[in-house]
Amino acid sequence: MDYDAIIIGGGACGLMCAVQAGLLGKRTLVLERNDKPGAKILISGGGRCNFTNLYTTPENFITKNPHFLHTAFSQWTVEDTISFFENFGEIQGQEKTLGQLFPKSNKAKDVVAVFTKLMYDTGQDIWLQTEVKSVKKQEEGYVVSFVREGNEQQLFCKKVVFASGGLSVAKLGASDFTVRSARQFGLSIVDTAPALVPLTITGKDATWYASLAGNSVFARVFNDRISFEENILFTHWGLSGPAILQISSYWRAGETFTIDLLPKFRLDELIKSERAAGGKRTVGQMLNDYFTKKMVEALGKYLPIELKIASLSKTDAKCVCDTIHKFIVKPAGDKGYDKAEVMRGGVSTDELNPRTLEAKKQPGLYFGGEAVDITGWLGGYNFQWAWASGYLIAQDL
Ligand SMILES: Cc1cc2nc3c(=O)[nH]c(=O)nc-3n(C[C@H](O)[C@H](O)[C@H](O)COP(=O)(O)OP(=O)(O)OC[C@H]3O[C@@H](n4cnc5c(N)ncnc54)[C@H](O)[C@@H]3O)c2cc1C
Repeated sequence: MDYDAIIIGGGACGLMCAVQAGLLGKRTLVLERNDKPGAKILISGGGRCNFTNLYTTPENFITKNPHFLHTAFSQWTVEDTISFFENFGEIQGQEKTLGQLFPKSNKAKDVVAVFTKLMYDTGQDIWLQTEVKSVKKQEEGYVVSFVREGNEQQLFCKKVVFASGGLSVAKLGASDFTVRSARQFGLSIVDTAPALVPLTITGKDATWYASLAGNSVFARVFNDRISFEENILFTHWGLSGPAILQISSYWRAGETFTIDLLPKFRLDELIKSERAAGGKRTVGQMLNDYFTKKMVEALGKYLPIELKIASLSKTDAKCVCDTIHKFIVKPAGDKGYDKAEVMRGGVSTDELNPRTLEAKKQPGLYFGGEAVDITGWLGGYNFQWAWASGYLIAQDL
């Protein structure tokens, strides 16, 4: 049992790290608390796994230090991800939308199978249902304590990789383990929070949102930091859908954001051409061309949908334009870590060597994947970071 490294976590980062180490002729042991590897990969992208994004740049990530990513992404690129899955798993990528790449088979399990086969071929070990309890420094290395088959055990290793993820979705193995351990080693942590998460609405507006549950609208969602054009989805408790998940990563409690419900058109232009045609239609009839009947009825709470366009005053017309293009939302909160695709924040990049992801203060300790203060947008970016970080660490083991 003489391993070059112990890797804690058999998720995206840990599996990539183990197989890349294996390809370099090294031996690793992966300790995974779940009864199967890659639990999050298996359910990702609705079971289809959006495994990278063709247009990945450091700007698609939230981190205190965007420069940090330049080094990582110059060593493991999107092309490397694509050829890795093509060469080792014959997985052909298929772009769905906005650069999002999925396996042509549409099966996330094909992605996990690439790793399980390579782990076997390169002689890497993985112990499932093995929960690491602590990592402690001991002279030239670290003592890893874990519970396996009900027994407490310990292993010593010179190098230990924390690929144990963040706090999102406890039932898939997530916990505060990585953040807690990093703190114990004196590493600073950027405040953590759920990200890529649905947002809730309570109070007097709640019934309005609930009345629209199931309605989806293509929209531009923005605040003073960022803007996304994708669908939003009304739900019984608030808002979800890709554009909302995206803005959630940039939203802070107590803030508002704005939705342009019709980003491809200009309402003032539409009103102008209706007027030119006599203005006989009502505001509601005009909006019916762009929204569901249910949505138009609901908008009636804020707009004079019964009024004929010809009789709209300047103030009415402004109200129509502002409501559609500048719909202000003040969420009450978010749906929490169990509904969040990722955790924002984590181990500060200041603590890590950008080439190796080794902790500067603790030689031999490495941190990758979601546990680090690097959070991708929705759309395959988070896996790209997980693969890249696993690869980087493996080069140094
Ligand atoms: C529903 C959902 C859908 C998603 N879809 C996509 C998508 O399509 N594309 C995309 O790019 N991203 C997606 N993501 C995000 C992506 O899954 C994560 O960014 C990625 O899995 C992070 O990789 P990781 O290896 O850092 O962590 P994880 O994949 O979470 O792996 C960490 C592993 O460590 C194990 N572990 C934790 N603590 C211990 C311990 N003490 N002892 C032993 N083992 C431990 C956990 O059980 C887990 O298996 C999705 C996330 C969710 C929740």
